[in-house]
Amino acid sequence: MLGFYIHVARFQDDLHRQLGKVLQSPPASLGRALTAAELSELSSRFEPFLSLAEAHGPKATAELSRDLRTRGQDSWSALLKAAWIALSASDADGLLAQAFLQPYAELLRSRSAPRPSQTAYALCPFCNRKPGLGVLRQTGDGGARSMICSFCLAEWEFRRIVCAGCGEENDKKLSVFTASDFYYIRVECCDSCNTYVKSVDLTKNGRAEPLVDELASAPLDLWAREHGYSKLQNNLLGM
Ligand SMILES: [Zn+2]
Ligand SMILES: [Zn+2]
Repeated sequence: MLGFYIHVARFQDDLHRQLGKVLQSPPASLGRALTAAELSELSSRFEPFLSLAEAHGPKATAELSRDLRTRGQDSWSALLKAAWIALSASDADGLLAQAFLQPYAELLRSRSAPRPSQTAYALCPFCNRKPGLGVLRQTGDGGARSMICSFCLAEWEFRRIVCAGCGEENDKKLSVFTASDFYYIRVECCDSCNTYVKSVDLTKNGRAEPLVDELASAPLDLWAREHGYSKLQNNLLGM
């Protein structure tokens, strides 16, 4: 799974650079539909991504990518157009399309301003998506938590004792689990809405790579599911 992620991350870096050159002045906002010019640039670059996922992805992803690849550019355009505005991808096509679109979302985010700041956003202040994970960073007196957007990868501060799913603040309803294999990853569960999010605790492991470690700690997702929690937002691998 990590091998696949490394290929995806390289592809995303490269796509970010290419799109930065060819799409220099689209409206700098994430909450809008893609323009025809954007769709054409994006869909013309989708096939190499599908080939990569076919060659390196887990079995289900590889099969899906092979199938999508045979459908052609019109169908890719439709898929990308829908995935761009879908606030929460849950099906496999949508997650794959969002992984492809992520570098462009990041690019537009770097050109746009966030919503006016509030004390705490449960949704991304740039694109309104749910967070994909949390991180804890060292501050003066302990760790401060922030959330990372599942789509445009924006990071914003978020209070530690509050559920990002439903806003629950009662600490008796909010449990944190860890496992010795992943001592620096917290599974933060809410017993009010039965969702969880994983947070990478950089105060315990300053060398952790939040996005990579979130994917690599899939056993924690299985554990959370077995205990009746569902993830606030699935990652690229559908976990
Ligand atoms: Zn975002
Ligand atoms: Zn909750």
